[in-house]
Amino acid sequence: MIDTHCHLTDKAYKNDLLEVLERSREANVSPLIIAVDSLDEANNAIKLSKEHEDISCMSGLHPHHASLWTDEYEERLKKHIDDFNVVAVGEIGLDYHYDRSPRDIQRNVFERQLQIADDHDMPVVVHTREAINDTWDIVKNIKPKKLVVHCCTEKFGDIKMFLDEGYLLSFTGMITFPNAKDIRDTVEKTPIDRIMLETDSPYLSPALYRGKRNEPSYTVEIAKCVADVKNMSPKEIDEITTRNAVSFFEI
Ligand SMILES: [Zn+2]
Ligand SMILES: [Zn+2]
Repeated sequence: MIDTHCHLTDKAYKNDLLEVLERSREANVSPLIIAVDSLDEANNAIKLSKEHEDISCMSGLHPHHASLWTDEYEERLKKHIDDFNVVAVGEIGLDYHYDRSPRDIQRNVFERQLQIADDHDMPVVVHTREAINDTWDIVKNIKPKKLVVHCCTEKFGDIKMFLDEGYLLSFTGMITFPNAKDIRDTVEKTPIDRIMLETDSPYLSPALYRGKRNEPSYTVEIAKCVADVKNMSPKEIDEITTRNAVSFFEI
């Protein structure tokens, strides 16, 4: 089983990261892909991925921090893309919920990073919140070869165009929340060969661990929930979503 999106360089893990990794391997959640919000975080993620054979990472600038983008930043991203351990550009996209960077800057920086990813044949990990239409407008102009909408919380009708284009969706522990009926409906209607699992840890712990810090080993709970919704066995969900992630990230 693969946790395709965990923020392992977050300070939440600074005291016990090795134990977190150990629990993850014991739960058969390995390899892991570290998600980052900035290139400084990506530097730490690359370092960590060089220390552990079963860890890869992404590099990119989160929409929250889009205002940081400069030409120099762009050069740094291109250098990261050339690194063997960097397997995707992300997380990039639009966040109109928090609006931490002006929306026009978010759109420009998202478009620029999408273009860079496409030029380098890199898969893209997209973060989109309350911005699905603008996200799609930018994606459909560039049409990168491989793209996943991470932490998908959209209703099926609102996200269907991404599936029609051949893209993937990844789901977090949010699908286990009692009030997440709409997200489970999206899981139900999304073909299983387009689904990946992710914790987005340290946030969004599955219902069973609500209130606790999230960690990659809890991916197992997300797989169980997908299995329930799809009426399949957790083993099948593990095998298929693992295959999807191996093929998507080429790990
Ligand atoms: Zn995100
Ligand atoms: Zn994330």
